[in-house]
Amino acid sequence: MTDRIQAVRGMNDLLPDEIDVWHQVESVLREIGWQYGYQEIRTPMLEKTALFQQSIGDQTDIVEKEMYTFADAGKESLSLRPEATASTVRACIQHGIVHNQQRRIWYMGPMFRRERPQKGRYRQFHQFGIEAFGWAGPDIDVEIIRVGERIWKNLKVKGITLQINTLGSNKSRQAYRIALQSFLKNHLGQLDDDSVRRLENNPLRILDSKRPETQAILVNAPHILEYLEPSEKNHFDGLCESLENSAIGYTINSKLVRGLDYYTGTVFEWSTDQLGAQNAVCAGGRYDSLVEQRGGKPTPAIGFAMGMERLVELVANQGNNERHQRNVIYLIDVAESANVRAGIIAEQLRDNGYRVISHCGGGKLKAQLKRADQSGAVIALIMGQDECQVDGLANVVQVKHLRAKIDQQAIPVDDLVAWCNDNIR
Ligand code: ATP
Ligand code: MG
Repeated sequence: MTDRIQAVRGMNDLLPDEIDVWHQVESVLREIGWQYGYQEIRTPMLEKTALFQQSIGDQTDIVEKEMYTFADAGKESLSLRPEATASTVRACIQHGIVHNQQRRIWYMGPMFRRERPQKGRYRQFHQFGIEAFGWAGPDIDVEIIRVGERIWKNLKVKGITLQINTLGSNKSRQAYRIALQSFLKNHLGQLDDDSVRRLENNPLRILDSKRPETQAILVNAPHILEYLEPSEKNHFDGLCESLENSAIGYTINSKLVRGLDYYTGTVFEWSTDQLGAQNAVCAGGRYDSLVEQRGGKPTPAIGFAMGMERLVELVANQGNNERHQRNVIYLIDVAESANVRAGIIAEQLRDNGYRVISHCGGGKLKAQLKRADQSGAVIALIMGQDECQVDGLANVVQVKHLRAKIDQQAIPVDDLVAWCNDNIR
């Protein structure tokens, strides 16, 4: 016997019994994108590897260790996208849709990172993200943060908190980087190998080290806020002020840095204490240089990416996933002669927006009722020999209530849609 082939580690099947909550989350996200005037973009899942190397950065964990990269027909290096901002920027430049114009864009879909799989961390996962191109001021930063708030609100997810920071422009960050490097070099002996390695290439990443010993050293490290140019300081102050005026709670975390090189200025993260170790739900920030760096006209930009597996889990745990079962009707046909008639009635109900599950396959009434119950339907319609005599006495259908203690009732077929509208909508 051959071994049964299993899915690739860290890549999940989303099964029919768990898909309802995904649909609910996806439709809320689409709706919110629409409400704020964002338009969807769909880019390919494969891109040239160079796009990610040059956008996310050669020295980042994502590009160094996590990408699924292969040589296409032995020639061009391609990678499965680990995130979608680089692709969005590429597409916008390629099609000229951010050239001298402002754009609000969203995307949703699978991303791929070869990380160690664990709860909340997978090798294929999904992100919903938004990007706004062409606005430089802090008002759009606030809008992007509001979209996050709106998502938690509409999905009734509680306990997600916001941290913000700023990384300055490339110039001020460079000055800060040098100051941080020289500070950390005085503590070289106490740093772990990973941090020592980052010290030359990406010292800011040391700031979000999870190691307590490293965090203890960092208590006295210089702050980025001291290195900002006046205009950058104003932007950050403006953001904080607007958040306060809008009653959006936040904390400033001067150690918040992102694992992608393209960020400049405002960065933020939404996190929860309800998912265990993988507590970041949504992260984003400004990337004012990326469009120009990729060959477009200088265009300020800001966005976020949200981990959908983590969001879906929060929605599922908090019990707010409305099942779409309320208006399910299960159609039972006990007599073979009722079959055609049952089909016609089912279509009439579907014409009126109902979800009708036909039994199919015959069998005894008791067995069919058991299936009806398992389906989650709210009522079963029973079509028997007597029920389908159109010209006879009984052009009725029997309604059996599956979720309420109400006696079975006979409803004339002609009144059925109206009856459903009044009773189970
Ligand atoms: P983390 O610190 O959890 O590794 P990150 O900084 O790598 O996150 P981003 O690249 O900013 O994350 O991605 C935005 C969001 O996408 C994260 O906040 C998280 O919710 C989600 N995410 C990132 N990587 C994964 C993954 N491997 N599996 C599931 N969700 C993920
Ligand atoms: Mg990561």
